[in-house]
Amino acid sequence: MSARIIDGKEIAAQMRQELKQEASELTAKGMTPGLGVILVGDDPASRSYVTAKERACDKAGLYSDDNRLPAETTQEELLVLIRKMNDDPKIHGILVQLPLPGHIGESATLITIDPDKDVDSFHPWTVGNMVIGEHTFLPCTPHGIVQILERNNVETSGAHVVVVGRSNLVGIPIANMMLQKKKSANATVTICHTGTKDLASHTRQADILIVAAGRTNTVTADMVKDGVVVIDVGVNRVEDERRKLGFRLVGDVDFENVKKKASLITPVPGGVGPMTITMLLYNTIESAKRTLAKEQA
Ligand code: NAP
Repeated sequence: MSARIIDGKEIAAQMRQELKQEASELTAKGMTPGLGVILVGDDPASRSYVTAKERACDKAGLYSDDNRLPAETTQEELLVLIRKMNDDPKIHGILVQLPLPGHIGESATLITIDPDKDVDSFHPWTVGNMVIGEHTFLPCTPHGIVQILERNNVETSGAHVVVVGRSNLVGIPIANMMLQKKKSANATVTICHTGTKDLASHTRQADILIVAAGRTNTVTADMVKDGVVVIDVGVNRVEDERRKLGFRLVGDVDFENVKKKASLITPVPGGVGPMTITMLLYNTIESAKRTLAKEQA
């Protein structure tokens, strides 16, 4: 068997087209969805993420409010800006790019964001609602994974989903989302981490294997069963002198060999990555829709 390669770029492009239409309908009703973006400091990777997010907003017809603050910005200055955005009717979602400089508390920052504008889904209120299955903003990367599974008609109900990684960003939320007694979920879930004994004995049981470990070759072909659906979230740089930048990006899964056993697999790059920003646009539009519904009630 050789896997069908999931084209995350194509799914993302299709969704962004749908979202552009929704944004234009909202604009026609006087409610252009708006994203407030805050970047503190000048970390090059964070700068390029923020630029990509703003560009995506622009292309989809969303308004974005760009705030690039110097690295020496104080905690209080940052909180003042967040509170201003909380009160700004043009802004429906607030994104504070992480990581923050060491002198700024991440937790104090994230809890200042109004949960009604928490489109990155890091506020404990949002996380709690997700865990108990209440309607809330779903975190972008895990939600992107759900969209990939749904749009490839992967049956999750009753499937054994094995997640490698337990970060607050990916592993824990996707495990929780897969566990819900809901459509595109209702799975039996195993979560693995560095304390897991005999990782392969768990990954081999997976009908759907979601890998977010941040290490190359965390999953090799001997660690999966035939026909598994593999979602590779990892993004790792490996040296490659043939490339202009001297490196290329690979996932956490030994793609070339695992694809020979899998039924479906996401590549890196071009799999989960393009979905993350798409789901940020989705949440911002969702927030604008909720605001409009409240105004019309
Ligand atoms: P993270 O915070 O470093 O967490 C990694 C998790 O993997 C930890 O829970 C760790 O276990 C576990 N782990 C690491 N090596 C392992 C091993 N050999 N066996 C079992 N478990 C292992 O990383 P993250 O933020 O979740 O991100 C994971 C990867 O996804 C990274 O490469 C990141 O760049 C990528 N990512 C991509 C996107 C995207 O949009 N494409 C978005 C987010 C993240 P412990 O808890 O025991 O340490």
